[in-house]
Amino acid sequence: MKYNEHFSDMTENYLFAEVADRVARYSKAHPDKKVLKLGIGDVTLPLAPAVIEALHSGVDDMAKAETFKGYGPYEGYDFLREAVQGYYKKAGVELALDEIFISDGAKSDLGNILDIFSENNTVLIPDPVYPVYVDTNVMAGRKVIYASANEANGFLPMPDFHVDADIIYICSPNNPTGAAYTKEQLKVWVDYASKKGAVILYDAAYECFIKDDTLARSIFQIPGARTCAIEFCSLSKIAGFTGTRCGYTVIPMDLKKGGFIANRMWLRRQSTKYNGVPYIVQKGAAAVFTDEGMAQIKANLAVYQKNADTIAKCMDRLGIWYTGGKNSPYIWLKCPGGMGSWEFFDYLLGEVQVVGTPGAGFGKNGEGFFRLTAFGSPATTEEAVERMEKLLRK
Ligand code: PLP
Repeated sequence: MKYNEHFSDMTENYLFAEVADRVARYSKAHPDKKVLKLGIGDVTLPLAPAVIEALHSGVDDMAKAETFKGYGPYEGYDFLREAVQGYYKKAGVELALDEIFISDGAKSDLGNILDIFSENNTVLIPDPVYPVYVDTNVMAGRKVIYASANEANGFLPMPDFHVDADIIYICSPNNPTGAAYTKEQLKVWVDYASKKGAVILYDAAYECFIKDDTLARSIFQIPGARTCAIEFCSLSKIAGFTGTRCGYTVIPMDLKKGGFIANRMWLRRQSTKYNGVPYIVQKGAAAVFTDEGMAQIKANLAVYQKNADTIAKCMDRLGIWYTGGKNSPYIWLKCPGGMGSWEFFDYLLGEVQVVGTPGAGFGKNGEGFFRLTAFGSPATTEEAVERMEKLLRK
């Protein structure tokens, strides 16, 4: 017996543990100081009332023999797939029902999708990045190359047609940088993938934060994407489902190569290793897409968007360079005074007790940058911004 040797190639990600550790040490030494956290990537507002009502009705269904549900379809109930189909239609994207797969969230699908691809593929990933893309590929022994995201390209790297890649990750609006590609930029990526015969794994987990109508909410708004892209999305951020767990993945029927049809392979994979999202959760998820549910979740999103705006405006006043904040809950700022990421972390914590996330934790190119998030309460956000502004004005 041998263990998977690629596990030893994975670098330990100490980022959030190290942040928690430094905050705990500081709080212990300074019990009188109130620490404000703008580092969390998790939502804080409760589920919308329409969702709660639907969850309750799902529970009631399970209590009666006539409406009880056992194993559901691997790919999700039609009532939820139809709701997702309608959501895409509003964005001008026509999808067939069997192109939509319901899951327990984007993270699982982003990792699991790799089952349908050869281990010999070369993977192109932006740096800095959501660490899941890197780790899931290193775990399987794939070769990873990086597209450099930096201040010069606004943290939106474009493809180098001289570089070959088979699997390409794009996340827009991006975590951690908050930067969002224009449709024109995404078209270049689609053309690149098509030319290379590659696939784009498009993470749309933050599409709900897009306010600018000229930006894409889905890769399938881009001509040519149906033959080269898979889209992952989630109810985590749009509707506060981080703890409830529900997402969806879209695999167009047109995505195929050498007799292999990605959509059918994914169904085969899911039916082999997965038994679907709980019926009760799917009932709650469907409520998100009703008019009532949408109105309620938009009110929640508006709270986060206002927080993002509060932070972004503070950076504008201070003249600090940043990306995000406008179509994203993340503000990715250049540490002032040439400070390193962790140096700035300690400075903010020590001087004004504000916690963010050091950019260096998201990749080499994150050094010298810092991520603030809009998921805190408005009161916390405003107070943190006030404290930072006073300190950084000096
Ligand atoms: N993709 C990105 C870029 C994320 O930042 C996150 C969570 O923070 C996820 C996916 C995970 O989403 P889910 O909760 O649906 O697994």
